[in-house]
Amino acid sequence: MTDRKSYDVAVIGSGVFGAWTAYCLAKSGASVALLDAYGPANSRASSGGESRIIRMGYGTDEIYTRWSMRALPRWKELFAEAGRPELFQHTGVLWIAHEKYQYALDTLATLADLHVPHERLSLMGLRKHYPQIAFNDDAWGIFEPDSGVLMARRAVQALVGQCQKIGVAYRAASALAPTGSGRVTSIMTTHGENISAGTFVYACGPWLAKLFPDLLGHRIFVSRQEIIFFGVPPGETRFSQESLPTWLCLKDEFYGMPDLENRGFKVANDHHGASADPDTQSRVASSAAVEAAREIVARRFPALKNAPVVETRVCQYENTSNGDFLIDQHPDFPNVWLVGGGSGHGFKHGPSLGEYVAARVIGSTATENKIEPRFSLATKETTQHRAVR
Ligand SMILES: Cc1cc2nc3c(=O)[nH]c(=O)nc-3n(C[C@H](O)[C@H](O)[C@H](O)COP(=O)(O)OP(=O)(O)OC[C@H]3O[C@@H](n4cnc5c(N)ncnc54)[C@H](O)[C@@H]3O)c2cc1C
Repeated sequence: MTDRKSYDVAVIGSGVFGAWTAYCLAKSGASVALLDAYGPANSRASSGGESRIIRMGYGTDEIYTRWSMRALPRWKELFAEAGRPELFQHTGVLWIAHEKYQYALDTLATLADLHVPHERLSLMGLRKHYPQIAFNDDAWGIFEPDSGVLMARRAVQALVGQCQKIGVAYRAASALAPTGSGRVTSIMTTHGENISAGTFVYACGPWLAKLFPDLLGHRIFVSRQEIIFFGVPPGETRFSQESLPTWLCLKDEFYGMPDLENRGFKVANDHHGASADPDTQSRVASSAAVEAAREIVARRFPALKNAPVVETRVCQYENTSNGDFLIDQHPDFPNVWLVGGGSGHGFKHGPSLGEYVAARVIGSTATENKIEPRFSLATKETTQHRAVR
């Protein structure tokens, strides 16, 4: 059936980026349609995982520290509004660094400059506070006490619920990309529906590369990422969130979370995996990924050496060449926006990104929403050199 109404904005994709964009647009008074082919935070989407870290540290990339600082209170407001405060788990975040690891030193400096609460921990401090972790002799740490974990899938679904309460028209539909060039007045769905709007925001995460193959097929690098949950021994409390923060080990390129909601001790490899197709890739974890996670657990968390795997998840990062987001107009269609490139770190920034995109789409010149050149299409290269993490 063709939708006869014309919206101010149609947002395609209701992952964390699209849903926050729709929410912020609707709050600013726009009429908004929000479409998703598989549903909000579905199991194929990058936002479909159980949990995502929100931390403030970003090396020298101060813009993301600022965005994260802005985002956390907005997430909490949303959860309060939705009556779901448990969707933020206040675990704290521990960075584990080794020697003079420059990224960690830069993170420390940025956190201090921006007055983000944090604590530098010596090797002795680490060993005293976290005896359940095996630290190398050259380890030191940064602890962010206010940071933690967003319960991702449920957070996006709660957000879409709030969107609908403020008038966003959500619908299940798979949109096609516009054709030709110039101003777009309507787009088609794969079921032959017509969606009319003044502006179209394609926030399709890893699917952007498939929808716009000529423009983005070589600029969005979709990588398979595997997450393993280990079951803690019976009666064991050292891996609960009361005893252990969320942790990132820079040297290992692994990170993880305590046993949140008794679902298991999460261990994830941050190294980019093989190229993946978000529609068809297998969601069954590989034995190589399980073995790599087990090796880290045995080395860093020896009490869990023999812990069984209780759950696994397979997802994908939608990386840009260096990890900066993509937020720009389509070069052939002035009223079509491309929003994505979360690059393995985008979830936490949903509220800041939504505000930014809404301001750009509406044309607001509010100072906090000045145009950021790092998000432009022009800066997105066709070879990868990861810089933002
Ligand atoms: C394993 C893993 C761990 C991560 N860890 C963290 C973390 O700890 N902290 C953090 O901040 N970030 C993290 N991230 C990154 C973060 O999850 C992503 O950057 C973010 O979820 C991307 O959201 P998105 O809305 O751009 O994409 P998605 O969530 O993929 O949403 C895109 C949506 O578009 C829909 N869609 C696609 N094509 C169409 C179409 N044609 N028509 C209609 N709908 C369509 C899809 O169904 C989907 O729902 C992680 C990512 C992964 C995979």
